Order: sequence, then C-alpha cells, then structure tokens
Amino acid sequence: MSLLQDNFGRKFPYIRMSITDVCNFKCGYCLPNGYQVDKSDNRKFLHLDEIRRLAIVFSKLGVSKIRITGGEPTVRKDFFEIIKILKDAGIKKVTITTNGYHLDKKAQMLVNSGLNGINISIDSLDRNTFKTITGHDRLPEILRGIQNLQDLNFDNIKINAVLLKNINTSEKDFDTWGNFIKKNKVDFRYIELMRTGDNLNYFNKYHVSSKIFKEYLDKNNWIYQTFGKDAGPSLNYINPHYEGKFGIIAPYSKDFCKTCNRLRITSRGDLRLCLFGNTGISIRHLLQKDDQIQELQDLILGQMKFKKESHYLELGETGLTENLSTTGG
Ligand code: SAM
Ligand code: SF4
Repeated sequence: MSLLQDNFGRKFPYIRMSITDVCNFKCGYCLPNGYQVDKSDNRKFLHLDEIRRLAIVFSKLGVSKIRITGGEPTVRKDFFEIIKILKDAGIKKVTITTNGYHLDKKAQMLVNSGLNGINISIDSLDRNTFKTITGHDRLPEILRGIQNLQDLNFDNIKINAVLLKNINTSEKDFDTWGNFIKKNKVDFRYIELMRTGDNLNYFNKYHVSSKIFKEYLDKNNWIYQTFGKDAGPSLNYINPHYEGKFGIIAPYSKDFCKTCNRLRITSRGDLRLCLFGNTGISIRHLLQKDDQIQELQDLILGQMKFKKESHYLELGETGLTENLSTTGG
C-alpha cells in the first residue's frame, strides 16, 4: 500500500519518471524544432545509480508502478538496464511511453526485458498526417513493431493520440481507429491538447474539446466503463464487437484531478507533484549515496502536503512546464 498520500486523501502508488529530455521526433505541440541543447543547463540526466536509489525509495514507500518516459526514453543507450534496475528494486509494474522509433527492431528486447506495458504515441494512422505532425515518416515501422509485440503475446499495449482540430478529428479518423481496434487488442485513447509554456499559438489553433470524440462514441453505441480500482486518467469505452477499447483523457475536464494517482520525477532529478503545478523541488542531492535513502524518503513524504487539489489549467496556468519533453506527459 502506498504511504504517499496528500491532504485531499489521494494516494500515489504510481510514478512517472523521465530519463531524458532528448527526443528524435519533432511533434508540433511539443518540440516543433526538435530537441535543442540548453547550454545554460549543464546538469546531466539521472544516471543509473541515482535511478536505482529512487526506485528503492519508491518501492519502500509502496509505489507499485513506474512509467519510464522522456523526451524519448529509448534514445538512452542504457534504457534496458533502467528497466532491469526498476524491476530489481521491487517495482512490480514497469511500463514505458514511447514514440515507437525502431519499435519493429526493439519489440523482442522489450518483451525479454520483463516490461509490463507500453504506451505508444500515434497521432494518426494516415502516413502523411503522421509525418506532418511528428516530422518523421515512421508510421510503418511503428505498426510493424505493434504487430511484432502481439506476435510475442505482449498484450498490454496502449496507443495515445493528441486530439488536434481538423488534423485528426474527422469521423473518418475515428472510424479508422475503430477498424484498428476491432481486430487488435489495444486501448486507443485521445488526449486533449494541453497548453504549455511554449505552445500557445499551436494550442490556440488546434485545441479542441474531447466532446467531439465522446459524441462519436455515444452515437456508435460505445459503452462507458466505470472506474476500476487502478483506473488512470482515461475514461474508457467498450464494445462487445471490438477487441480493443477506446478512451478519452481530458485534462481540462472538471474532475480530472480527483483521480490523480501519480507523482513525477524529471530527467534531472526534480520531484514534481503535478505535471503542471508550480510545485517542484530537486531531490538529486539525496540520490548520491546509498546511506541517504532514509533522508530521501523523509523529504519525499514531507512534500506530499504541498500537492494542490487541481492543476488550474483552465485558468490558463501552465506552471513550470515549457513543453512536455522534460516531464514526459
Ligand atoms: N516521446 C514519448 C512519446 O511521445 O510517447 C514520451 C514523451 S511524450 C512528452 C508523452 C506523451 O505526451 C505523448 O503521448 C505525447 O503525445 C504527449 N504530449 C506531448 N505534449 C503534449 C501536449 N502539449 N498536450 C497533450 N499531450 C502532449
Ligand atoms: Fe518527442 Fe514525445 Fe515530444 Fe513528440 S511528444 S516531440 S515524440 S517527446
């Protein structure tokens, strides 16, 4: 059971850990010019010993799931070692969020690593649209990667797409995903585009409420599945004629923060209590030696009282977040 609990009764058995800010894609809403080295910041990304100490502390605090994210987490050469370190520290579920780069080639190693789940970001099943959004013509290799994972009986696969007005919001786009999940046991979720410090113009042009997709689901008789015990932020919809599920992640919706069950670690060792909150402190100084673990545990526990009830995004606040490559979405 998680010992991490805030003043609003929410528990945090789940950590999102960014291991790098570097990314090899150029998604229009995130890193439209690709990853740029910040010359003013010479701090290195968390190294393996620091990640190991974090995992040990979180395991002691009752965290059962860590999602590795980025930037693009798979660009790190020691990426598979990181999965092993988390597992060895006693984290029961280790999952990743990836853009799917070289997924076809990595599928076997991912399965061998003991990974428990994968979230793959695919904003469109149309090859040209995918290329326009991400700057890379890599949809076929990602789809081959999904097929390879399925052939290896890896079945905890989720696909996320950012909902982008007039880019991937037509009835035809929704039908295309419907056909995909009819045959594939994959959960597909649309995420509403979030405003960050960097993307105001893009946000103003492309943000659209997920109501548009919800209406489609209602019209096509998809059945809302009520929250389960481990429910994440996604509202899920099922249909007995389909292998997969549809989902909606709507951070701007009224009750989104009520079910928050996660904390975040940035790639340079800050603890963030919210993806968007102004609340974050560096805990890196306590990741340097094994005998600091108790002190680190106390520091993290002490931070819980600062977690706010909501992200206040609807008021136009973006907190510290310039784009989601530093915190991992
Ligand atoms: N590079 C990996 C990927 O794209 O899956 C992991 C990091 S990425 C920041 C994590 C998720 O955040 C992706 O699904 C991405 O589409 C989503 N994302 C990035 N910026 C976003 C924004 N402004 N609004 C909504 N989702 C965003
Ligand atoms: Fe890279 Fe992911 Fe950001 Fe796209 S969303 S630029 S793949 S970090």
